This record gives sequence, structure tokens and C-alpha cells, in this order.
Amino acid sequence: MIDPFGREVSYLRVSVTDRCDFRCVYCMSEDMTFLPKADVLSLEELDRVCSAFIRKGVKKLRLTGGEPLVRRNIMSLFRNLSRHLKSGVLNELTLTTNGSQLTKYAVELADCGVKRINVSMDSLDAAKFKKLTRWGDLEKVLAGIRAAKDAGLAVKINAVALRNFNDDEIEDLIRWCGDEGHDMTLIETMPLGDIGGNRVEQYLALSEVRERLEKTFTLTDIDYKTGGPARYVSIKETGRKLGLITPLTHNFCEGCNRVRLTCTGTLYMCLGQDDAADLRTPLRASEADDVLDAAIDDAIARKPKGHDFVIDRDNGGPALTRHMSVTGG
Ligand code: SAM
Ligand code: SF4
Repeated sequence: MIDPFGREVSYLRVSVTDRCDFRCVYCMSEDMTFLPKADVLSLEELDRVCSAFIRKGVKKLRLTGGEPLVRRNIMSLFRNLSRHLKSGVLNELTLTTNGSQLTKYAVELADCGVKRINVSMDSLDAAKFKKLTRWGDLEKVLAGIRAAKDAGLAVKINAVALRNFNDDEIEDLIRWCGDEGHDMTLIETMPLGDIGGNRVEQYLALSEVRERLEKTFTLTDIDYKTGGPARYVSIKETGRKLGLITPLTHNFCEGCNRVRLTCTGTLYMCLGQDDAADLRTPLRASEADDVLDAAIDDAIARKPKGHDFVIDRDNGGPALTRHMSVTGG
């Protein structure tokens, strides 16, 4: 699949549910309205769409959400998709999770061929963690990360940098990741969805964070790539890599190789644009895959060049109305 700008699309991220057992302050409001269950693709339908993308050249598949591990019977989807790893057509099956269910599922994930996972953890202070996630329990997440490590999964920690929330803790998170053997990625907040507050107060530019980190650590730019939008530095003092995802201060669109599918079968060709393709109708229109395949080709032919997010004083609300939990982070 080659888009109009010559970029090869080889990475599919799938939000398998918009529901979640946390309510992170930058992601959701406390009283979210979730999609009606009838609109959501069944696990069998998700398998069919993913398999169509894999047939068309997707090499890396990430399940996300909402919280992917709260979807009922989600392991059956992992198990079914693992056939593409076994046959060699898919290189990587992975997930992004808040970690709350990992003690339950880590071993099974490893058994399904998952090798690396991303766990989002924005604070190591239990009270702050609770404040950030509203409903989360840090102890459970730490136990989940340990379970993943014990099961042989490589864990990368994702942390969103938030002014007046965890900005004073980033050095501690980096040290902790160093001690535990995890790489880490810092993410700038993106203006996605109404969160019942103003994002200007949360927004912290990673250029500012980097400048500060350089007073404590020796950071060296490295040419490491995971096929994602992060730019990496190595940290001499911990021996680990640190990724920086800066959608607002640095345009990461040139190398974009991904598209995103929501749990209702809507394909977003860009995280930061509203144009989307409905794949549920063609999926349900026929048991054969030709209508679906044609709809995917049409969508890829419309992949835009890039996004245009802004967060400024006049524009503290969402740039896009849909939440990250719908499109999949
Ligand atoms: N629930 C899972 C989790 O938290 O890892 C997967 C879905 S979550 C939407 C994926 C990632 O998106 C998380 O790392 C989260 O911190 C990040 N995220 C959510 N809302 C965001 C926003 N407005 N700006 C930047 N990152 C965001
Ligand atoms: Fe849930 Fe992940 Fe959003 Fe937090 S970031 S509310 S864990 S989907």
C-alpha cells in the first residue's frame, strides 16, 4: 500500500474498544459517553479487517484503545492474529496498555507471540497517579509491568509530559526505567477530544523538558527507529533509550507509515485529520473480501500529507472532537 506521497503503509493500529478502566485527565472526561455496543465490530470482524490489511502489506499490528485488555475475550483476537506471525507475513503483533490487567494476561500474550509492549505510566507517586488517571491504582500497574517482564516481554514505558502534574518527576521516571531495564518515551499532549478542561494548562513542550534533562543527564541523538514518530536519544547515565514524541513542536508526518482503525471500523488515515473511511459497511456487505479490499485501497489513496494541531491561548479546546481513546493512541 503506497499513499499519494510515496509513503508505504505497513503499520496498522487498531482501537479494539473505546472503553477504559481509567479516566486519565488528558485523555477522557470523567463522565464519558461510550459508543453503543451494537456499533462496535465483533472480534471476528476485527480479525477479518486486520487480516485484510496484513494481506495488503501491513507488517506491524498494534492493538490499543481505550484499554485493549478490558475488552471481553480479547485474548481470542490475539490468539487468532498470531497465526500471521507463525506464517511469517506479519513481523510484529503488539499492544499499548495501561497495565492494569497485565498480571492476568502477560503470560498468554507472550504465548501468542507478542514480544514488546508499551505500558503507559505517567507517575511513580501513587497519589499523583491516582489524580492523573482518576481511577487507576499504581500498585496494580507496577505488578503488571513486573508480570510482563517475568513473562519475557520487553516493556517500553510511555509517559505524557504534563505541566504542573508530572513535570517534576520526569528525571525520577527516567532513573526508574534505567534501573528496571525499560526504554521510555515521552509524549506531548495532543488536542484530541473534550476533556472537560483547558489543555493550555497541561501542555508542556518537550523542547523545554529536554533542555532541563540535559542539566542532569548526557543525552545523545541516535538514529534508532521503531517505525514510529519518536526521535530517540541515548542516556549515558542509565544506558537506556529515550524517545521524544513531539507532534506540536516538530512535524513528524514525513515518515508516517501508519493508519488507524477504530472499534467501529472507521479508518483514519491521519491521527490529526477528520477525513475517514467507513470499512464496516463494506465488511458487512459481503462475506467475500473484495468490497473491503477496494474500500481499503480507496482510503489509502486519500491519506493526507500531515496534521495541523495547535494548542495556544485562543485555542485551548480540542483541535479535533474525537478522543484519543476512539482513534487509538
Ligand atoms: N489505554 C491504553 C494506554 O493508556 O496505554 C491505550 C490507549 S491510550 C489512548 C494510548 C496512549 O495515548 C497512552 O500512552 C496515552 O498516554 C496517550 N494519550 C491519550 N490521550 C492523549 C493526548 N491527548 N495527548 C497525548 N497522548 C495521549
Ligand atoms: Fe484509558 Fe489509556 Fe485514555 Fe488513560 S490514556 S484514559 S488508560 S485509554
